[in-house]
Formats: sequence, C-alpha cells, structure tokens
Amino acid sequence: MTDLLKKYLFQDHSVRVQAVKLDEAWRTGLAHQSYPPCVQRLLGELTAAAVLLAANIKFDGSLVLQLQGDGPVALIVVECTSDLTIRATASLREGLSVPRDGNFQSLLNSQGQGRFIVVLDPQRKNAAMQPYQGIVPLEGDSVAQVLEHYMRNSEQLDTRLWLAADAGQTAGLLLQRMPDQGGTEAPGPAHDTWERAVALASTIESGELLGLDTDTLIHRLFWEETLIAFEPQNVSWHCPCTRERVANMLRMLGQEEVEDILSQRDQIDVSCNFCGKPYRFDPIDCARLFTSPQDTPPSGAGSIH
Ligand SMILES: [Zn+2]
Repeated sequence: MTDLLKKYLFQDHSVRVQAVKLDEAWRTGLAHQSYPPCVQRLLGELTAAAVLLAANIKFDGSLVLQLQGDGPVALIVVECTSDLTIRATASLREGLSVPRDGNFQSLLNSQGQGRFIVVLDPQRKNAAMQPYQGIVPLEGDSVAQVLEHYMRNSEQLDTRLWLAADAGQTAGLLLQRMPDQGGTEAPGPAHDTWERAVALASTIESGELLGLDTDTLIHRLFWEETLIAFEPQNVSWHCPCTRERVANMLRMLGQEEVEDILSQRDQIDVSCNFCGKPYRFDPIDCARLFTSPQDTPPSGAGSIH
C-alpha cells in the first residue's frame, strides 16, 4: 500500500513518530510539470513535511507551507488539508538559471531575503477559529532545518524531521516531543526517551527513507523500543482545477479577446497555475463558451500560453 501516513507513539507517550511515503500521489502532482531535479527535490521534501505537520492539526481546513525565495526559485508552496489531500507547485524566477547543483540557500535565499511562511486556514472561520500566519527567515541548509527552527521557536515544539524526494517518490520521518512532556532541558525519563529517539532516527540515510517501506524503516530504527501504532491514513493528490473553471476564466476574458487570441493561433491552450494540467479549447469549444448557458461564477484558474 502506498501514499500512506503512519503514526506511532513511544510507550511512555513522550515522543510522537510519524512517517509518510508518497509515490503515486507525488507522481500525479508532477505529471504536468518539468522542474529541474534540485527544485523537484525541495518541492518533494516540503510536500512530505506538509503531510507530517498537517496530520496533527485540530480543525477541518488546511495547512499551507510556503518557501518564498529571492534567488532562482521564487516560490515553493504546498497545501495539505486536514483529510490529507495535497497539492504542490514551484515557480522559478524569470531570467535566472537554476544551477544544476543548486542547494537550499543558493536556490531560495541568495540575498538573505527568503521567507518561510506557515498558514493555518480553518474551513469554517469564526471568532475562535481565525486563519493563522507565521513568517520566519530561511535559517538552515535544508527544508527540514527551516521547519525544525520554525517549530521550536514559533510553536515551542521540539521537532526533528528527515526528508527525501526524487522523481518517483517523496518520504519523510518526524519525531516530536509531546507538548505536555516539559521543557527541552527538563531532566527525567521523558527527556531520555526523546534523546534516545533522536539518536536512533539520526542513523537514517536518504536512500533508506526512499528505498524502504515504512514498516521496515520503523522496525530498523526502533526495534528495541515499544511503539504504539495507529491506523494508517491515506494521502492523495487533489487539485481543484476543472475544464469548467478554465471555461469560466475564458468567459471572463470576453468573446472579443478570445476571438482575438484565436486569430493568432489554432486553439487556446491554458494550463492550471497550480498543477500545470493543460486544457485545450479549439475554435468550436471557444464558440460554445459564448453560446451555451452558464451560471457558475467565474474563477481565475490558469494562464494562457
Ligand atoms: Zn490544477
């Protein structure tokens, strides 16, 4: 079984362990995109991280993680809903080439102006449930380090992350000290468990994270420990773009503009701004846009190219 999030708890309830492995969902998300490998890896790592963090949000809604860059990569953004549907995209800065061996800092923070933004967006907003946004500088040399800093400084949660991604899959492991287990330096058995868990998990390598199935991985790392396992949860890719939304965007442009575009090319190609899925409208499709009845509100959903 693939595209799963698995959660565990150390027997003394002091440390949470979560592992995610995506392959089909990740490949679906990349199907219409062609990112340079180093960008794809950052996007994959942020995707795995978003699933790991969204797994613990306490409301219906979504978690959005954004890396806003000042270098060749302008933006990497991932949204994961509380029921674990994801979508993710990256945009490159025009005119700047992506170095083959680009690393986290050179791709996203070459001027030191990069930002990491976390948005918690509840579906039903009310006085007690408002969207939350946290913004921090890009401190660290990897997606995992930036998130660890954020979780420690903004959420006061000791968190360690191991993330890996390639063209076929993305995977992540999270350790988190449970919030009611005292401060970082608090001595005692819970502190020892945390230290031991981190030491065990730190032996992991990217190849193992991607190559091993989650059960094997968890057994290899924690076979001497007693972990309570929870029911695995499915993760799926979902982008809300549809042909009808794109049709509405073209209607918004107006008949004159659409006919003008058609006078210069054989058809109109629109791709979703988020997942890159292509939608093609030939002259007959375009003519139908303005003759068939429609009452759905328009929605900007893509870009014409
Ligand atoms: Zn889409």
